[in-house]
Amino acid sequence: MPPVRTPTYRAMVLRERGAPLAVEERPVPEARGHQVVLRMAACAVCRTDLHVVDRELDRGLLPIVLGHQVVGRVVSAGAESILQVGERVGLPWLGSACGSCEMCATGRENLCASASFTGCDVDGGFAELTLADSRFCLRLPGGYSDVQSAPLLCAGLIGFRALRMAGHASRLGLYGFGSAAHLIAQVARHREAAVYAFTRAGDLAGQEFARSVGATWAGDSTGPAPEPLDAAIIFAAAGELVPLALKAVRPGGTVVCAGIHMSDIPRFPYSLLWGERSLRSVANLTRKDGAEFMALAAEVPIDVLTEVLPLAQADRALELVRTGRVRGTAVLVPD
Ligand SMILES: [Zn+2]
Ligand SMILES: [Zn+2]
Repeated sequence: MPPVRTPTYRAMVLRERGAPLAVEERPVPEARGHQVVLRMAACAVCRTDLHVVDRELDRGLLPIVLGHQVVGRVVSAGAESILQVGERVGLPWLGSACGSCEMCATGRENLCASASFTGCDVDGGFAELTLADSRFCLRLPGGYSDVQSAPLLCAGLIGFRALRMAGHASRLGLYGFGSAAHLIAQVARHREAAVYAFTRAGDLAGQEFARSVGATWAGDSTGPAPEPLDAAIIFAAAGELVPLALKAVRPGGTVVCAGIHMSDIPRFPYSLLWGERSLRSVANLTRKDGAEFMALAAEVPIDVLTEVLPLAQADRALELVRTGRVRGTAVLVPD
């Protein structure tokens, strides 16, 4: 009798920080309890994936499958799964939270100390199959294809949380105009805010891109804002933008740092913070954010610009994100 072949799936695995991803054939996992197995239809690439590769986060396991913007269909479900086989869902960065700590009990599961994060603590979506906790998967809005839905799961969602933290702003500055900013600029425009896009000095292509998705003004981050802003969101991982953004906002304005990692913030005079300006970060997401943002995405709707690459080219996709050469969001699809 020929040996029985265990069914396998292909995963792109980070075995070593900074090294290229390794292709692995792994046995198909079994969904237990609340788990589901998702067949990946699209997985968007995020700057955070690079922070994991570069060990810029103070957490994470190796080996790990990156990717926390996973659109997939349920192919098998554990006995306690809240999803059915065949459903299309999104798996975001928040892979699980304890549900019982003070943070979880007060609507701040994004700050749960026992949370696990997809593509960092547990395997993510740079693979044909992904094991997920069904309770942390998000329903996706209609009207978006698999590829278009994927960037909503972090770029859109974290951008949305940052936009909320920015408070009511009729003049909103966005520093770093990539994956998240191109989505959130459209949401802000939908809310009748004027968007001011700040890019690396001399990045004329980036500035043109920002205007093409609705920015009222686009210019160099090192230069002054054309008028005082009500709030600014910093998507770039560059700490030197913090004093520049504080300088650009009016008294009482807010500067939100939306990235999970940022280079050191240079010293700056207290006068930049004075006048009741606020400086804050945004960390992770809650499932409530997810539900609210997906409803909003259905209403806007958002024009999601993507550059699609096959899963086998995950390294190339990471490199494109690293060099800022993606117009919109890089998205992996099964080969
Ligand atoms: Zn908790
Ligand atoms: Zn992300």
